[in-house]
Amino acid sequence: MSSVAATCNIIVITDPTGQDPNGAAAGSMSFAQNMFQSTFLMSKNNHFAVLSGGTGSSDVRLNSIVAAVANLENNASAASAASIASSYEGPRLLVGGPYMGAAIGGSFDAYVVKVNDADNSITVTPYSSGVATLEPGQKGAIIHLRNTDGNPMYGTADYVRKETAMNIGKMIRDGYPATTILSEAMGEVARDSGEKYGGGGVNLVSGISTSDMFTPTEMNSTGYPMDEAYAKSCDECGWGVGYPAAEAYETCPICGGELKIIYAYESLGKAITVSPDAVSVSVYGSGKSGVAATTKEIVQASVNKYGYDASAIAGSINKGINNGLLMGVDHVEPKDINVKEESKAVGVYYTALPGDRSSPSWDLPVDENIMNILGSIQTAVGIVLILLVIFRSRLLKSFQNRRT
Ligand SMILES: [Zn+2]
Repeated sequence: MSSVAATCNIIVITDPTGQDPNGAAAGSMSFAQNMFQSTFLMSKNNHFAVLSGGTGSSDVRLNSIVAAVANLENNASAASAASIASSYEGPRLLVGGPYMGAAIGGSFDAYVVKVNDADNSITVTPYSSGVATLEPGQKGAIIHLRNTDGNPMYGTADYVRKETAMNIGKMIRDGYPATTILSEAMGEVARDSGEKYGGGGVNLVSGISTSDMFTPTEMNSTGYPMDEAYAKSCDECGWGVGYPAAEAYETCPICGGELKIIYAYESLGKAITVSPDAVSVSVYGSGKSGVAATTKEIVQASVNKYGYDASAIAGSINKGINNGLLMGVDHVEPKDINVKEESKAVGVYYTALPGDRSSPSWDLPVDENIMNILGSIQTAVGIVLILLVIFRSRLLKSFQNRRT
């Protein structure tokens, strides 16, 4: 298997104080298949991400990432962690977080975007060697972009890198949060340069990621094209459904409202943007796949429309059961709905239909096997990390081998 890597890495910092829950974000994409070989790590506790790419083997890249993470854990600067890439053959490291700023080192073609608060001026500067830095405390971004061999849009990277960097600068100046800017920038790169397969993104302040929303489930395949339709969503109540299931819906099954097409890059923005209106939903009594996720969609939609009302939520869920959105669970009554409005939390207690498992479902962002590996990484580098992309095959083995 040939070694491939991300060809687009972006970090955006719009609030270096860390106050805005959406004030720092990072993302990666590529035209190539096996995007997941380009590891992408975020420390939830220490608020930084390490994005990688470049040439050379995935093992070498992985070694450089682990070295960078170990340095960051010892309070190294972003610049010193990124410079580690130069001690290895071929990799690139883009490192950053709301408090530490950002830096890129190794093999790269990047722009550093800086927005000056005093006069709203934007500077956009190209770098391709050494270490390029966005200093701590500075609003701005770093974008790296190259074209993959075989991409029919090969040759567009230089132009798109510069255009996207300038648009990132304008959006920072105009006050958009980093998560929105990341999503728009990834949409522009996907459309205009063809380096379009996810990949994904992380919110570096709030510690949430797109997880494997856009990554391929099979080896030797590409991730989700970030410029294509990903879901349909109801403007009226917020209900949504992903493709390909979305093909079957013309109107909202909850409220009958219009459905709007959400492109993958927009879904990325939604997934990592913390909304003050978001409802935390816990689902008990059904381990059936899809029940928890669908219940969350329905509860969020019901709360948006009717508020924190147990009867209304139960009604919305029963409607979902009746029209086939929710399968394998019995109808609920208001007493099965535990509403805590002050903490914006809703618990739903299902009775599983005969034959179903009845243990509470654990809403893990990744499957159990991956969680075990995550645990090993935590031990190996002594830090809480989130994997955006799932380690498989050789990469998985090399990570497992590291701890022995
Ligand atoms: Zn609706």
